[in-house]
Amino acid sequence: MPAPKSPFRMFEPITGLAKGLWVTLSSMFEKPVTTQYPEQKKPVKPRFRGRHVLKRYENGLEKCIGCALCAAACPADAIFVEASENTDERRFSPGERYASTYEINMLRCIYCGFCEDACPTEAIVLGDQYELSFTDRREAIYPKEMLIEPVPAGGQPTPQKTEPGKFTRSVPEMKDPSD
Ligand code: SF4
Ligand code: SF4
Repeated sequence: MPAPKSPFRMFEPITGLAKGLWVTLSSMFEKPVTTQYPEQKKPVKPRFRGRHVLKRYENGLEKCIGCALCAAACPADAIFVEASENTDERRFSPGERYASTYEINMLRCIYCGFCEDACPTEAIVLGDQYELSFTDRREAIYPKEMLIEPVPAGGQPTPQKTEPGKFTRSVPEMKDPSD
């Protein structure tokens, strides 16, 4: 036998409406959580993967040795590297070669971080930059000049004239600059 119907059933739509309005009214007096971007920027999480940065040693030499392992590891075929020879008269990085061309196509990149993992010198790092905008497909290809970090204080820009035989190893014995 079906249960008898409540005599207050007719008020159910009104109580439902009141509950809904109460949620709206109570949230009107809560502190707003809106971030005034771009004036205010929220800090990213420590493991956030943003735009790539090509790192330098503390003396300004570039960490990238143009080996193209990052390009080989990239599942999206987003990286293009062309290497050239270093000399002590005109040195960009330690070791024999440096990246004379380094490009990343940001339209292809999926920010997987495989390039970072593959790099033997920790030259490429996915940083905390997330402001990527372009209006043209060609602008989405970031060249080395856009990716490389500024010369640290006390360092020199590249190319440098270096002491013969001092930077023959691709991974020199040198303190890393902090990220
Ligand atoms: S983050 Fe991934 S997809 Fe992007 S360039 Fe590196 S390896 Fe390629
Ligand atoms: S970023 Fe690293 S893996 Fe890529 S070419 Fe430079 S040294 Fe090699």
